[in-house]
Amino acid sequence: RRAKQEDSGFAFYRPDYDHHTQDRLALQAALHQALKEDDLTLHYQSILDLQTGALDWAEALLRWYRVGELVMPGAFIPLAEESGLIGSLDRFVLRRATLEAVRLGLQISVNLSPKSLHAPEVVEWVRQALEESGLEPARLCLEITEVALRGDSGASTLQTEREQAIANLKALRALGVRIALDDFGSGYSWLSCLKHTPVDLLKMAPTFVAGIGKDPRDEEMLRSLIALGHGLGLKVLAKGVETPEQLGWLREAGCDLAQGYGVARPVPLEILRMAPSSLAG
Ligand code: C2E
Ligand code: MG
Ligand code: MG
Repeated sequence: RRAKQEDSGFAFYRPDYDHHTQDRLALQAALHQALKEDDLTLHYQSILDLQTGALDWAEALLRWYRVGELVMPGAFIPLAEESGLIGSLDRFVLRRATLEAVRLGLQISVNLSPKSLHAPEVVEWVRQALEESGLEPARLCLEITEVALRGDSGASTLQTEREQAIANLKALRALGVRIALDDFGSGYSWLSCLKHTPVDLLKMAPTFVAGIGKDPRDEEMLRSLIALGHGLGLKVLAKGVETPEQLGWLREAGCDLAQGYGVARPVPLEILRMAPSSLAG
């Protein structure tokens, strides 16, 4: 039974009344173990440069091999965020992805959870990962979301978190890494968020792309977001590109980059290695 719902969106449960709590605790313990025993792995989804055809950039996506079963991040990232394990997970991904990026000769994107972006240590984590891997900083892109940048609740702790996040982003950019705003356009404060955040890349939320060829309003939104990004000197990436028609439309509209099942699915490292490094036309 749900005992209390905090404003933060985190729910607190009464263990004696909620048998689901047992499952959650067991899952958290198993995740902790997986991290120690190296049962976590990264899959990579290629990102296509729509103007040059280059495919030398990929997003690292976390996967958990749990007794032979593949567990997707949606099933364990929220748990990791609740239990405080997310910092260790993000750190693991940073180290692994930068090492593998060097081995593959790729540019790499890594997702950073809001909690990690609020941690003063994150700059040091990234600096260490770059140093250990030898990856050129400009070849690492960190993906953040609007959630990490909200400071509009009036609560002083949130304001401090937002300030810490902005300070971290500035320090990260000073290292030479790039910052992407993920799922841009899906939240409710993305415009003001964009104004105050140092970023290099806008990853447009996939909902707009789904409307290409179907809904003129989505197409107009896409054109506007592309113009907005370019006007601010940013690169613009379309997420969730599934069809050749969408790909063609986006290239025509001047979008810089595309990612989605229509370009490439997320795959293990060994399979990415066999993929072509560019797609002509
Ligand atoms: P995201 O960063 O928005 O990642 C994109 C998600 O959309 C991935 O799901 C990807 O497999 C999926 N996707 C890609 N192309 C298409 C498409 O054309 N159609 C559809 N329907 N889906 C597509 P995935 O791998 O399950 O990841 C889900 C979310 O989990 C990510 O969303 C990200 O927020 C989080 N996540 C994944 N890996 C990490 C990680 O290493 N650290 C952190 N903090 N979060 C992660
Ligand atoms: Mg992402
Ligand atoms: Mg998403």
